[in-house]
Formats: sequence, C-alpha cells, structure tokens
Amino acid sequence: MKVTTIGAGYVGLTTSCVLADHGHKVICLDVDQVKISKLERGEVPFFEPGLQELLDRVLKKGTLTFTDDRKTAYYHGEIIIIAVGTPPQIDGSPDLRFLKTALTDISEHLSSHKTIVTKSTVPPGTNKWIESELAQKADRKLFDVVSNPEFLKEGTALEDTLNPDRMVAGGNSAEAVARVKELFSFVSAPWFTTSLTGAEMIKYASNVFLAAKISFINEIAAICDAYHVNVEDVARGIGADPRIGPAFLRPGLGYGGSCLPKDLSALIYAAKSKGINPKLLPAAGEVNDSVTKSYVQRLELLLGTLRQKRIAVWGLSFKPDTDDTRYSPALTFIRKIQEKGAEVLAHDPVVKETSEGIISQPDPYSVLTDADALVLATEWSVFKQADWGRVSRMMKGKIVLDCRNVLNTGEVAAAGLDYHAIGRYQRE
Ligand code: NAD
Repeated sequence: MKVTTIGAGYVGLTTSCVLADHGHKVICLDVDQVKISKLERGEVPFFEPGLQELLDRVLKKGTLTFTDDRKTAYYHGEIIIIAVGTPPQIDGSPDLRFLKTALTDISEHLSSHKTIVTKSTVPPGTNKWIESELAQKADRKLFDVVSNPEFLKEGTALEDTLNPDRMVAGGNSAEAVARVKELFSFVSAPWFTTSLTGAEMIKYASNVFLAAKISFINEIAAICDAYHVNVEDVARGIGADPRIGPAFLRPGLGYGGSCLPKDLSALIYAAKSKGINPKLLPAAGEVNDSVTKSYVQRLELLLGTLRQKRIAVWGLSFKPDTDDTRYSPALTFIRKIQEKGAEVLAHDPVVKETSEGIISQPDPYSVLTDADALVLATEWSVFKQADWGRVSRMMKGKIVLDCRNVLNTGEVAAAGLDYHAIGRYQRE
C-alpha cells in the first residue's frame, strides 16, 4: 500500500521502517528539517535499538523515503498515518497544535480517497472531531478515519511493532478498519475493534493503569521500608496471582517519559471536562511525585546535608535503552538535589546532554572522583555490571543509593560500599 507517515519521531519512524520492510511504499514527512536531512543521509536521529539496521535495509530496498515537502507526502499516501507529538500543557490537556496543522494539510490535499489513521495519543472525542472537521472541508467520500493507538515502548519499539500484545482499531467504516488490518497483516496479535472514542479510551486507560501500578508498588515499597520487609518478596508474592500479574511491579524512582505522565494528566483533564472528579488517577500522580522526594530525603539523611556534597549520578534517560529524557525521574531527582546545594556529575550511556544543560561525562567511572555518594537513577544494564572495587576505590564516600532496586547488593557490599535502597531489606 502507499503510506504517508506524518512525524518521524519514535512512533512515526519506527512504524515507517517496519511498514517499508514489509513491502509498503512509505513516505515519511516531518517539519523538522534537521531530522529529515539526517534521515536522508541514512541516520536515525535518536537512539532506538535495532532501528539503524532496519533503516539501512529499507533504504537499500527503496521502499522508504523522507521529505519535508507536504505536497509530495500528502499526494502519495492512500493511507495517512498521524504520528505527531501531543505534548502536555500546563492545565494537563494535551497540546493538539501539531495534529491540527497536520489536519489542515490533509484537508488541502484530499484529491483522492485517503484513510486517516491516528496513532498519536489523543483525548477521547478527538478522532470524532477529526472526522467532522474534515467533513466540513472536503467531500465525505474522500476520507475515512481510523483510531489506531500505538502501544510501542521506547527501547523495544521495533519488537513491539512487529510483535505487539494487541492491536486496536476504532472507526465508523468497516472497510477502513479492514484496510488498516491489511496494512499490518504481518502482525499476529489479536485485533480489538471498537468505536473511534473507544480506541482512544483503551490507550489512555492502559497507560493510566500502568502508572497506577507503578505508584501502587512504590507506596507498598515505602511501607515495606518502614517494616524492614523486602518489597521484592512482596512483589513476587502478589504478582503470582494472575489477577495482578508480575509485570510493572518494580519499585523505584517512579515513572516518567513522554507518555505516562502526560496521558495521566490528559485523562484527568478529560474526566473533569465532563464533570467527573477522578480520585484514583490524581493519587497515582501524587505518589509518583512524592517518590522522587523520598529518595532525595533518603540521600540527605545518609549524608547529613546535600550542601556542597558531590553526587555521582548514573543514568539520565527516563528508562534504559532510550535517549529520551522527557519527564525523566533522573532529571527531577538531579534538579532537586542541586536545589539543596549538591554538585552533580552524571553519566548516561547514550544521552549526551539534556535540555536542562546536564552534560553526560564520558564514562561511568569518570563521575566518581571525590564523590560523596553514587546514585543509580536509570537501570541501564551496564551499571548493573559495574566493577564495584573500582567504584569503591574512586569514591570519597561509600554510599550507593540504588533508586531502581536492581544492583547486586552482595557485590556492592563486598567492595566495601554501603548499599541503600527503599524497601530492599535482606530476610530477617
Ligand atoms: P516525537 O516527539 O518523537 O515525534 C513527533 C514528530 O512529529 C517530531 O519529529 C515533529 O517534528 C513531527 N511533527 C510535528 N508536527 C508535524 C507536522 N505538522 N507534520 C509533520 N511532522 C510533524 O513523538 P513520539 O514519541 O513519536 O510520539 C508521537 C505520538 O505517539 C504522541 O501522541 C505519543 O503520545 C504517542 N506515543 C508515543 C510512544 C512513545 O513511546 N514515544 C508510544 C505510544 C504512543
């Protein structure tokens, strides 16, 4: 099929590459010319495991091209996939500016029939609104709208696109939904078909549930900590119940990234705009905010004060295997300890510099000289395999605060370091 993808971000580029690899003729449009220039040179503009190799392959096949020229892009696709960002605004609602621009562009190029597929995460009612907006500007027979929310995770975006747990399609036209299923016919996952708004709600409810699950285990971890109970034993014990399940029960610095925080705020906003006052959803966000504070307090307690203390921080991205630092808990933690007077030296395996101006030092050990404490903020596997003897010899202090509950406590202690975490106690 002839496909146009709008947006060459984590979702748009991954989707474009996978579709092109399965024989579809794809043009990927982005308004960011720097991004497009890089892609035209064959360079993936962000870190996503396996994506560079796939891009190399599809560029050789000639099934994927990039452009910043709207006319070329919109003329090409019989399927138009919207994958632009929907970032949060101060009031919690997502900023639909990019989506609205894309929509105007689509309406101006509806010379032949197009199936508009919305992958961007948008509030309940948005796809219905897209349908009515387009109907005002163009012949109704020239388009269909399908809400096809994306569930990929950064770090495993390719694998998630090739082997998703499920596919969701919402729409008013059975033919259009069938076309989208055909587009992704290489996927063996079950399809859930519903209304346009139903599909939007599945996406939000899914992310909000995950956020709540993380906040739940973080709250349990704080109670476990007070009772000197190992929260991992508790997570395993409750996770064995199939009604609960073991995934997403790892306590730590909380969730971040470009999806969970924004989708939680967006659903709260959407609920309130219909006169519903949600209780559980805001609580999940409040717990998440309080988690960073708990780790800052723990470090302050361990060091007496953070003023003029030198803190080495491992990890800047919001989770391992991505360079995405949007709403990264690691950055929130760093900002909070800097406000309390700490000097921070950080290292991340792929992030070079954050928008806040934090520069990643060249290697994990280079941040340790004269450090009063080491904080593990993002659980990259390279940190789990650290040479703890070397760490111990380089640091001034002995404190290691594991904000992700992933380090081997025995190895850290054997190197003469003082291991600390929240809710991670040895059995009595
Ligand atoms: P991103 O910020 O990485 O990429 C969005 C891209 O769209 C940018 O490159 C931007 O320049 C481009 N863009 C903006 N306006 C445009 C326009 N009018 N025409 C062409 N290009 C335009 O975003 P992302 O992380 O890929 O997320 C995209 C959407 O998918 C969001 O709604 C997000 O919530 C959702 N989503 C993201 C993930 C994820 O893990 N990143 C997972 C599932 C769903």
